[in-house]
Amino acid sequence: MAGLYIHIPFCKTKCPYCDFVSGPFPVEIQKRYVGALLREIETTSQEAEASCFDTLYIGGGTPTVLPVEWLVSILEKTFDLFSWSDIHPEVTIEANPGSVTERGLRELRAAGVNRISLGVQSLSPGGLKVLGRSHSVSDSLSAYRYAREVGFPLVSLDLIYGLPGQDVEGWHKDLEGAISLGPDHISCYELTVEGDTPLKRAVLRGEVVLPDEETVLEMTDLTEDLLARNGYRQYEISNFAIPGRECRHNINYWENGAYLGLGCSAVSFLPPYRERNIRDIFGYIESVRDTGRAIEEQEVLDTEARFRESVTLALRLIRGISLPEFSEKWRYDPIIYYGDTLKVLLARGLLALEDQHLFLTREGRRLANVVLSELV
Ligand code: SF4
Repeated sequence: MAGLYIHIPFCKTKCPYCDFVSGPFPVEIQKRYVGALLREIETTSQEAEASCFDTLYIGGGTPTVLPVEWLVSILEKTFDLFSWSDIHPEVTIEANPGSVTERGLRELRAAGVNRISLGVQSLSPGGLKVLGRSHSVSDSLSAYRYAREVGFPLVSLDLIYGLPGQDVEGWHKDLEGAISLGPDHISCYELTVEGDTPLKRAVLRGEVVLPDEETVLEMTDLTEDLLARNGYRQYEISNFAIPGRECRHNINYWENGAYLGLGCSAVSFLPPYRERNIRDIFGYIESVRDTGRAIEEQEVLDTEARFRESVTLALRLIRGISLPEFSEKWRYDPIIYYGDTLKVLLARGLLALEDQHLFLTREGRRLANVVLSELV
């Protein structure tokens, strides 16, 4: 299993909480970027490491801010030049509800995209306002309707909770609104204050107050319970799907499978190599123009590093890790390897061991960052 990721770093506006490599750029820069991306697709597809892919994920940023014709040319080149293990690979595009039209989605569907991830984030006007999003609730409803009308078989909604001023009831309404649409997949992320963002500065100045920890925990519990009652099985800490409609691309990532990332800041993992492309858009364009590639960092991971990384990624999956499979694949038994650290996490009820599977408990999921940092 191997995935291909393509990064589009453009957005209509920059959201105040966002720490990704993304933002608004003039169309001329977007054009030069797409030209560089097409060149990078050509050069990487000719190299030995270009394996056979099962999934394609176009993320960002907001890929759908680009003219649909440009996205179609990226898709066509990608399908033509790389090998695909299946004639119907999972092909996802991320979209902002304010940047899609019915015609655009129809063309993407015709070009082979079969999964769309809509960045709805909130179904309340107040929620969208505090997030500084450029779309409206009605944009989200229209985008969902278009996606279904043009025949996307898999539609995922992204939601954010723990917003300034949001209470449990408000989050309950958002979730119910999302469920009532009938998406195949729902991702729910807690709002986090990252890096040097306007949100972080506003929180530090005391101008914005986030809900307290207890309220956020209540929201997290509600998320798991309400989605389960409505047929969405949780398969990762933040991801829920109707069984069988999970995101294969992301599961490969949590299983520490191989993936190739193209575009600025994109990361590749082609064992034993981890590579990262130049973050800066202009540096990326220049490097691809001059050399066809834009790798800025490369590290070689030895078996032990890959084992540790595989443990911490796989524990994000609700099914956790199968001890016999891990021991056979890596020649390290996680129980012996982590020894007392693991015993303490088991004794505190943050991890559990059943039928030779090690997994995060509900409490462990609430403290996932702390638990996983013990095992890194
Ligand atoms: S649309 Fe997404 S990627 Fe773009 S600025 Fe907002 S949060 Fe960041």
